[in-house]
Amino acid sequence: MLAVFGHTNPDTDAITSALVYARLLSRQGVAAQAYRLGELNFETPFVLREAGVDAPPPLPELEAGAPVALVDHNESAQSVPNLSELTVTRVVDHHKLGDLTTAQPAYLRFEPVGCTATILLKLHREAGLPVERTDARLMLSAILSDTLHFRSPTTTAEDREAVAFLAPIAEVEDVEAYALAMFAAKSDLGDTPAETLLKMDYKVFPFGDPASPQTMQRWGIGVIETTNPAYVLGRQEELLRAMDQTRAEEGLNGVLLSVVDILNETNVTLVLSATEEKVLREAFGVTVEHGRADLGHRISRKKQIVPTLEAYFTPES
Ligand code: MN
Ligand code: MN
Repeated sequence: MLAVFGHTNPDTDAITSALVYARLLSRQGVAAQAYRLGELNFETPFVLREAGVDAPPPLPELEAGAPVALVDHNESAQSVPNLSELTVTRVVDHHKLGDLTTAQPAYLRFEPVGCTATILLKLHREAGLPVERTDARLMLSAILSDTLHFRSPTTTAEDREAVAFLAPIAEVEDVEAYALAMFAAKSDLGDTPAETLLKMDYKVFPFGDPASPQTMQRWGIGVIETTNPAYVLGRQEELLRAMDQTRAEEGLNGVLLSVVDILNETNVTLVLSATEEKVLREAFGVTVEHGRADLGHRISRKKQIVPTLEAYFTPES
């Protein structure tokens, strides 16, 4: 049985793409089961409820050599801790290639589109398989989620075409209203502990030149996409304490938390210490006031934050 899963601190794409890819493989005669690496965010339960689907179970401990398929990620820092002992047979992803290596030839499908689901739709078409209503719902939701309904600069024409194609199959008549309902669910954070808010959409990135290990740094970067940034920023002190604790616990060089206003497409990033302030000032040319850096319209971690930091920490590349 092939275990299919997305990244840790799963977002909607990581969950739904595991479900959709496992089902697609099963329809093609490959026994596959979807799993998750961690707890759901606040948006995904809404999506699963609307689609009438259960969340995938947590990934159990896998024996060395067990076959796995990765969706929506490929870097070991974002995957299961013993990934290097497992047999990666398939990867379907829309992120930059990281430190992935495989012992055997693997099926690798990477495309620079806005969402893994956009690639999964292509795989259905290439296999000549019709898209079922539930899968259409899940893929549509993932694309709206990852692209913030086409607001993100990661959006491509293929993502737009996929949504236009999937909406009638998914029986979503008003895509705009559905996307807003998803974002409202995501923003309904209640009294969620600051530590949980920080880790809901959080990834650790290695920066520097791997050829000279002494230059390597590890940064944790969280993003909170919300329609109510004032609520999140009102909890700045708690969040900074959670960031400080995470930096110590995970032995990180720095921790950033971007509060992204989905509707106005702006990013205010919380600044933990002089270390983060220096990097933000020098890498992005921004000023820091009251522990906040205004990163303007840089709302995509993948396309507008991480590449700038990579260039900053590896100047010669
Ligand atoms: Mn993701
Ligand atoms: Mn994704």
